[in-house]
Amino acid sequence: MNKVYETVIGIEVHVELNTKTKMFCRCSADYFGKKPNTHTCPVCLGIPGALPYINEEAIKKCMRIGLALNCSVNEQSYFERKNYFYPDLAKGYQISQLVKPLNINGQLEVEDESGVTSMIRINRVHQEEDTGKLTHVGSETLIDFNRSGVPLVEIVTEPDFHSSAQVKDYAKKLQQIFRYLGVSNADMERGDMRLEANVSVRPVGQKELPPYRVELKNINSFRFMQAAIEYEIKRQIWVLERGETLTQETRGWNETKKETYLQRSKEEAHDYRYFPEPDLPELKIDTLQLRELLRKQLPELPAQKVKRFFDEYGLNKAQIAMMADSKEMAEFFEEAVKVGSKYKVESIKVANFIINKKVNIEDINPEQLIKDIVNQNTGMISDEKELEKVVKEVIDENSKAVEDFKAGKEVALQVIIGSVMKKTKGKAEIKKVKEILEGVLKS
Ligand code: ADP
Ligand code: MG
Ligand code: ZN
Repeated sequence: MNKVYETVIGIEVHVELNTKTKMFCRCSADYFGKKPNTHTCPVCLGIPGALPYINEEAIKKCMRIGLALNCSVNEQSYFERKNYFYPDLAKGYQISQLVKPLNINGQLEVEDESGVTSMIRINRVHQEEDTGKLTHVGSETLIDFNRSGVPLVEIVTEPDFHSSAQVKDYAKKLQQIFRYLGVSNADMERGDMRLEANVSVRPVGQKELPPYRVELKNINSFRFMQAAIEYEIKRQIWVLERGETLTQETRGWNETKKETYLQRSKEEAHDYRYFPEPDLPELKIDTLQLRELLRKQLPELPAQKVKRFFDEYGLNKAQIAMMADSKEMAEFFEEAVKVGSKYKVESIKVANFIINKKVNIEDINPEQLIKDIVNQNTGMISDEKELEKVVKEVIDENSKAVEDFKAGKEVALQVIIGSVMKKTKGKAEIKKVKEILEGVLKS
């Protein structure tokens, strides 16, 4: 008999904070691409007797993430030692939080591929530290401790996801929030942001969580994670349908074979023997003061911006998604709309122009963008490259005028400009032609 199954997924995300210094020492946390083992000290090398101290900036950033995800901040919070033996962890334990994390009970709305929204409950947003980095070269393993002790925030959801599309949306929304908050680059490929999906399937109607689940780990792109989840759902149903049992295990993704593979089974699971970190004080958060302070400092977050853009600018969903994609893009768009209103250029036109012309907001300012839109409307040539091509043609065809100009006859420039205007049937902006000409003739 073929049962109908439901997918259950819980997500753990790790994100490295972009603080100046590490979590429990004052080594620089800006380690990416730096010479190995140059950002270290006795604390982050785990030398016995070295004492950690807490990075306040990291705690604030962790709380900002918590607040952005609608968590409550625990007034009392403390660090614990998570003990395990692995060469990337010199101390033999990672400083983390288990019983009293900084933030608890948050939520974030996600969407599936058909636009249906659901609320995902966030269990915790806690503060911990990153480990060193191992590189395997042949039969040898090299250790770089530059990353050891970099502030790491972990965000754990309840098992509220029911599809891989929801997971992808969640991961993208989190990444966007980290960037809006300015707390991390949240680059998946660089490993600033790491995603772990706990996946199980159960017969529809069953309320309890299955005793088995697969943890998908070390997958550094949203697309691969989605593919791995899809594969895992099919594999688990297949195993159950054959009457076999599933256990708790960790699996990775093989992109060549397009399948998940076993990395670690339950027998190898750790007993971390957590206990309170005796070298650090409890964290006492003066909630009233600090929470209000942080709340006031929170920027307008993606979800609020999307709603406001909808109300204010009459854009459609796809347009809003692009215009609110980053804080920088949103600011550019709103500035351009403001300038545009003086020239009767509507917001929808601004959005469409940015999208269709794939405008790079680092190459152009809002004023110029509006000028380009107006010029396009009047049939003027707004493409700099196109204009440059015409100018070069004219120069080749008017060697006499060019020579005259180079010999100091300013009027010769007028001849060349005249030819450009003729060739473009008057659709070139004289000021721009002049600029290009001067550039070309002087080089
Ligand atoms: P661990 O710390 O061992 O990874 P947790 O109990 O903290 O385990 O759970 C980690 C994640 O796994 C959470 O997001 C949780 O919601 C999710 N999870 C727990 N059980 C299941 C299950 N049966 N199916 C899917 N996800 C699960
Ligand atoms: Mg886990
Ligand atoms: Zn250090």
